[in-house]
Amino acid sequence: MKRQNLRKALMVIFVLSLPVTMFYLSPLLTLQGAWKGIVTSSLVFVGLSAVLAFFAGRVFCGWICPGGAVQEVLFPANDRRVPGGKLDLIKYGIAAVWLALLVAFFIRAGGLLSVQPLYGIESGFSLATPVSYVMFYVAMGGMVVLSLAVGRRPFCHYGCMLAPFMIAGKYAAKKIGSPRLHLEAESEKCIDCKLCTKNCPMSLDVNAMVRSSEMDSPECISCAACVDVCPRQVISLVFSSTGSKKS
Ligand code: SF4
Ligand code: SF4
Repeated sequence: MKRQNLRKALMVIFVLSLPVTMFYLSPLLTLQGAWKGIVTSSLVFVGLSAVLAFFAGRVFCGWICPGGAVQEVLFPANDRRVPGGKLDLIKYGIAAVWLALLVAFFIRAGGLLSVQPLYGIESGFSLATPVSYVMFYVAMGGMVVLSLAVGRRPFCHYGCMLAPFMIAGKYAAKKIGSPRLHLEAESEKCIDCKLCTKNCPMSLDVNAMVRSSEMDSPECISCAACVDVCPRQVISLVFSSTGSKKS
């Protein structure tokens, strides 16, 4: 469990870094920049997150994302497993609207006119004005209320517009057979204790994934909680170009 303690410690550190980093991840600032033809650091970040996912899946979500961390911090208050399925598609709709607006704004501005990493963050510090504090509390407050009302990481499932880009990167690597970080399982060793399912922060039925030897889920955030909790070492997180089935 040392790995999970490290993961949680890292996530708390990234939450504490939010006053500096928040606008570097802001989809709203990306659109404000696009309106003037400016490529912001937050737009560069969207591209980089997809590239990272090509090699390491949604490791950003599981280990780095301050939003994910805020939701996990609230697990003691409500760790109900959340439904996936068609509800997970909501975030694809949000990403599609964001992408359409982005393209339309750049076209209106006459193209990509400049790259300004500090656009909207001139001091380099995100929470530098009273308005930015209001935006911070609205964004974080919304995430907190959603988590308390629904359960485990609901924003990651339904609301995150970054996730579809990372999922695209992840499946592009799988499609072309490129080496990538992914789960593998030796299903014949499984004793169906379901500890993996119980401990998955994304509410995935990991036991069923093991039984079907299909360990790739778009919602998996490569947190390795299932790997670390399994008493029979059935699941592993590996970097290779092989498929999801180990045996
Ligand atoms: S924790 Fe391990 S043994 Fe238990 S159900 Fe999951 S894969 Fe099987
Ligand atoms: S399946 Fe395993 S690695 Fe993926 S999110 Fe769930 S616990 Fe984490």
